Amino acid sequence: RGEVVFDRVGFDYGNGRQVLNELSFSVPAGKTLALVGGSGAGKSTITRLLFRFYDVASGQIRIDGQLITDVSQASLRQALGIVPQDTVLFNDTLRNNLLYACPDASEADLQDVVQMASLDRLVAENPAGLETVVGERGLKLSGGEKQRIAIARMLLKRPAIMVFDEATSSLDSETERSIMKEIRRVSEGHTALIIAHRLSTVVDADEIAVLENGQIAERGNHRELLAKN
Ligand code: ADP
Ligand code: ADP
Repeated sequence: RGEVVFDRVGFDYGNGRQVLNELSFSVPAGKTLALVGGSGAGKSTITRLLFRFYDVASGQIRIDGQLITDVSQASLRQALGIVPQDTVLFNDTLRNNLLYACPDASEADLQDVVQMASLDRLVAENPAGLETVVGERGLKLSGGEKQRIAIARMLLKRPAIMVFDEATSSLDSETERSIMKEIRRVSEGHTALIIAHRLSTVVDADEIAVLENGQIAERGNHRELLAKN
């Protein structure tokens, strides 16, 4: 489940500049599409349209064949999980930071996502475990640890579609590699859109689409794209 289709999507911010121009791409259910593009290519705009922060000017966005304008805001939010570039942690326990979008998750599901996002060591190293307070006034976490928390938080919701919105862009290159590995692992077999600004970070995606000026300039797997350039 979770097929995403952008069908000839056009969009502008009302200042006369066309940001997306007949943009078409799809993420088949259970597959990963990496969307790669430089600054200003339209990556954030695509996420904003998918979450309906704005509506398209022309064309359609469909999830499992259904126009997103025909889906309730609540089901859309339930279907989409996001790992943003800069994860905000509350001055609260690890547990509450993980649970905040799904307060009713079971202890077993919580333990599962802690494992899946490789947070078990962080939890074990701290005497208070999941009750450790993190954030500005608590335990300071590294950029990589924050992104693992963001991944676990997203997984807890069991979204049909996982969106990784430049989730590794603020990390140093070594941490970026390890978080990308984590992302590949957790998205395996799920529908996932991985947005990134460099091709080198998404080498293993089922398919990569290169975004330039709001259009797909080329697509293929990593090997095919390298051969073309
Ligand atoms: P990316 O995420 O790939 O850097 P964006 O989607 O943020 O690209 O931006 C695509 C284009 O839209 C850019 O030219 C940018 O200046 C413009 N843009 C982005 N957000 C706004 C906005 N809120 N108002 C006007 N123009 C915007
Ligand atoms: P929720 O279950 O709380 O609705 P979401 O998965 O919709 O969770 O969003 C998780 C967090 O990411 C929220 O804080 C939301 O405001 C934020 N968010 C949602 N969409 C975007 C986006 N396109 N870019 C950055 N942050 C976003």
